Amino acid sequence: MQDAIARLDELMRRLIETDQTGEPMEPLAVAGELGRIRDDLMRGRAVLPRPGGERHFRCDACGTIVHGSAAPQACPTCGKSRFYEADLETTSVDAGPA
Ligand SMILES: [Zn+2]
Repeated sequence: MQDAIARLDELMRRLIETDQTGEPMEPLAVAGELGRIRDDLMRGRAVLPRPGGERHFRCDACGTIVHGSAAPQACPTCGKSRFYEADLETTSVDAGPA
């Protein structure tokens, strides 16, 4: 995750440099690097679960993750009330309706 963010920062720096110097960058190379960074980010765990069996719920509308023993009445970010239980141990956090 840290590595992917560092590579994203580097890519942004090079794009800004390209704009300032007029030296071209190969669009396909940029797309390829973005694709690899995306893969790394998707594989990484975004949240480390607390020990003790706390459950995690992801808002269906905005993606906010709420921790607790049960899904909240409403999302603290957007106010919607549909949640999926997030399985933080796997790469796919959308494990199905809670
Ligand atoms: Zn929400």
